Amino acid sequence: MRNLYEVLGVEKNASADDIKKNYRNLAMKFHPDVNREKGAEEKFKELSNAYEVLSDPNKRSQYDMNGTVGNNRFQNGQQNQGKPYSTVMDDIFSQFFGGDRRRQVIKGDTILAYANITFDQVLKGCDTSIKFLRKTICEKCKGKNICPHCNGSGSRTIHGMQMVVQSSCHACNGTGYISINCDECQGGFKEAKEDIVYMPIPPGVETGMRFLRQGYGELSTHPQGIAGDLIVVIQVVDHPIFKRLPVGDILLEYPLNYADLVLGKEVEVPTLEGKLKLNIPSGTQMGSIFRFQGSGLPIYNQGSTIYQRGDLIVQVGIEVPTEIDDEYREVLIKLKELDNQKPLSNKRQTIDNLGE
Ligand SMILES: [Zn+2]
Ligand SMILES: [Zn+2]
Repeated sequence: MRNLYEVLGVEKNASADDIKKNYRNLAMKFHPDVNREKGAEEKFKELSNAYEVLSDPNKRSQYDMNGTVGNNRFQNGQQNQGKPYSTVMDDIFSQFFGGDRRRQVIKGDTILAYANITFDQVLKGCDTSIKFLRKTICEKCKGKNICPHCNGSGSRTIHGMQMVVQSSCHACNGTGYISINCDECQGGFKEAKEDIVYMPIPPGVETGMRFLRQGYGELSTHPQGIAGDLIVVIQVVDHPIFKRLPVGDILLEYPLNYADLVLGKEVEVPTLEGKLKLNIPSGTQMGSIFRFQGSGLPIYNQGSTIYQRGDLIVQVGIEVPTEIDDEYREVLIKLKELDNQKPLSNKRQTIDNLGE
């Protein structure tokens, strides 16, 4: 029995991706539907058996250690015992095309693209242009892989003596599609080029939301094929001062001086749309929260322009000076003496008592 790594033409330390890639290329080459040469079927079975072991991390490590797996199921030609051959081939094709080959090969692959959206764009919605990479069709072979035996129809008409019989094309197994043998490209495709799509982004979008654009995915090399889908994933860029909270609320941490908290102060806080006056009452504790209703972000409403808005939450902090001059120090020492003369607050008493 041949070494499984040799069968797939990979090194022993090959990555799972490389194994899959090599298997895919070889399986396409020796698939009995496209390769009618003697021995192709045997070769194809051998490839499938090798791939079954090496694509499974458990089986692969077992094989690496013992040179064998389980009850030798993977040995040449034995894996498929009791399983109809066409089922095995369907399995293989499902892995590549994600389902029924007759349906799935027609549509091009899905492309993922990312849209960076600012808070301002979340607020108002926007029309944005999204750049993405899309593979180009090979100029040499034009990406055409129409089955020459049935001209892409997938069926053949057989004229008998008495009747005309319509039968599925054996060369392409009724798909109308064969793998491309072109030295200029990979399956009809060449390197990806930048493409651009314009799309409206509704207000209130959140990071991770996905929008589908049909027809902007990879092109199809199938004669009746259509381009795949483009999925645009939203990434909302962090704002320098506002933090996004759930359901439309945004948080602004607003630092004040100790004296301002004690004495109170009227301040102007920034919002997403200009400034608003906020009255900090005297004796405000650090961490206190002030809420401006409806000054947050829109709450996403399935792309509708009718939506509610969250709140702007202002949380006051305290700014402790790190460099102070002599005058400031003197005042603070005096303040500390005054503080020490006051009785402890109830809260402090509770804390101190619990510590004993
Ligand atoms: Zn080509
Ligand atoms: Zn055909």
